Amino acid sequence: MPPYPAHISHRPPPTVHPRVSHLLITSGPTRQHLDPVRYLTNASSGRMGQSLAQAAVDAGHRVTVVSGPVDIIYPPQCEVVSVVSTEEMLAACQRVFPQCDGVIGVAAPCDYRTVKVEEQKIKKTGEPLVLYLVETPDIIATLGATKRPQQWLVGFALETEDLRFRAITKMQRKHCDLMVLNGPQAIDSTENSIEAIDATGQTIATISGTKLQVARELFQLIAARLIR
Ligand code: C5P
Repeated sequence: MPPYPAHISHRPPPTVHPRVSHLLITSGPTRQHLDPVRYLTNASSGRMGQSLAQAAVDAGHRVTVVSGPVDIIYPPQCEVVSVVSTEEMLAACQRVFPQCDGVIGVAAPCDYRTVKVEEQKIKKTGEPLVLYLVETPDIIATLGATKRPQQWLVGFALETEDLRFRAITKMQRKHCDLMVLNGPQAIDSTENSIEAIDATGQTIATISGTKLQVARELFQLIAARLIR
């Protein structure tokens, strides 16, 4: 006679699976067209977003990447929503974010657009061309303003001066729980050097290496602090 009822004593202990989160990652640049052939953009490659997506799927999470035009390929386990402009990126994120636990905003959305997109190619006249630009919407700030208490946001701040001060200001304005600082040398590079700061402005990590190495370490930090 076993000491416990047979149906209990022969069972292996239950495996505890870490909770699977649904993460939204914005990645890559966006384009703001001036006319059918010309646009404003930046040199973001999407590699940091690709690396974070890889780290997140490797940790067993469900990942939706909303990406601007890039040449890189995201991990096949991700759902990828391809967009062109900042407004399209915002619309796609607003559709996905309500079902997500958190968002990592690695994208470098184009911050300016022309007031009007010309239907025909702008003709050269030999005179200077004056473009009247207005700001595009801020995706992370818009999502942050509507986030539920359990949802979290991680922003990236790329600055050329007053890095820390500007990053902290952005973190507050965009309702981010964590801000990752990097410099312009990160753009279109395979490597990165980052500093992560928490909502109180404290530096919680500095990480350097290939973007995949940085992403893996950074994702562990995000998982430990924000994923519940
Ligand atoms: O461009 P900026 O340094 O303000 O970017 C900080 C953070 O805000 C990044 O996470 C970036 O993805 C996000 N952002 C955004 N929409 C914009 C501009 C920036 O979501 N229009």
